[in-house]
Amino acid sequence: MEPFIIKNESLLTIDGWMNSNPGLVAGITTKLGGQSKGSFEALNLGFHVGDIFNDVCANRMKVSELLDFPLATWVSAEQTHDIFLQKITKADRGRGSISYEQSFKSTDGFYTSEEGILLTLCFADCVPLFFIAPEYRMIGAAHAGWKGTVGQIGREMIKRWQEEGIKAEKVFVAIGPSICEKCYIVDERVVNLVENILEDVDRKPYNLISEGQYSLNLRELNKQTLVKAGVPKENIIVTNYCSSCNNHLFFSHRKSHGKAGRMLSFIGWKEN
Ligand SMILES: [Zn+2]
Repeated sequence: MEPFIIKNESLLTIDGWMNSNPGLVAGITTKLGGQSKGSFEALNLGFHVGDIFNDVCANRMKVSELLDFPLATWVSAEQTHDIFLQKITKADRGRGSISYEQSFKSTDGFYTSEEGILLTLCFADCVPLFFIAPEYRMIGAAHAGWKGTVGQIGREMIKRWQEEGIKAEKVFVAIGPSICEKCYIVDERVVNLVENILEDVDRKPYNLISEGQYSLNLRELNKQTLVKAGVPKENIIVTNYCSSCNNHLFFSHRKSHGKAGRMLSFIGWKEN
């Protein structure tokens, strides 16, 4: 069953998690219902892609209203395809919400156990990872393109949470809308790096499709690295939405040849 449920034209939410965790808001935006034009039509939420600043601000304002999470509670990241994760407290609220320059530098993921903070990240094909350990009120989000995936950013989150006293078997992960294996073709160089982190898995997450060309399943690779990190298989839910196959609904960097807006993943606890 698809874990990401369409709420309205602009939002999909992880209803299973939200129903079993009162106060939780988690999901991802679509590309519909905003005021951006051209390649960024319509709900572009990324400041760094060359869109008109005021349009992105208006789009962010719209999402903040839909989620009932004011922009002053958001945090955003620079996202550099690395694996650095930032622990967030209330003192950080607002950073990057209306300015890319103010966002967390060299950061590709966030986690917090505090209420009234919305952790946001931008996507167009890369894999959004959502984390929750309900017993500890801990939530997290990470951005996993091929580099972050091969760098095992998911495993990094589990490691950081273990340092906080959270056991991997208590963690639930949702793998969100992103490019599917049919749409994601990579070369030998990437597959060699994938091979390096997968000594002992039963099912290879890639297939040779022609000389030096492979289709790579980033979601499956993320799932496998999370399982290796100790997250029970049954705690991991995976979307069926491909950002490229469903280009009417999502921005796709590959499908649009690099000219695309960004969706926003979000996770936060409502303030009591
Ligand atoms: Zn696809």
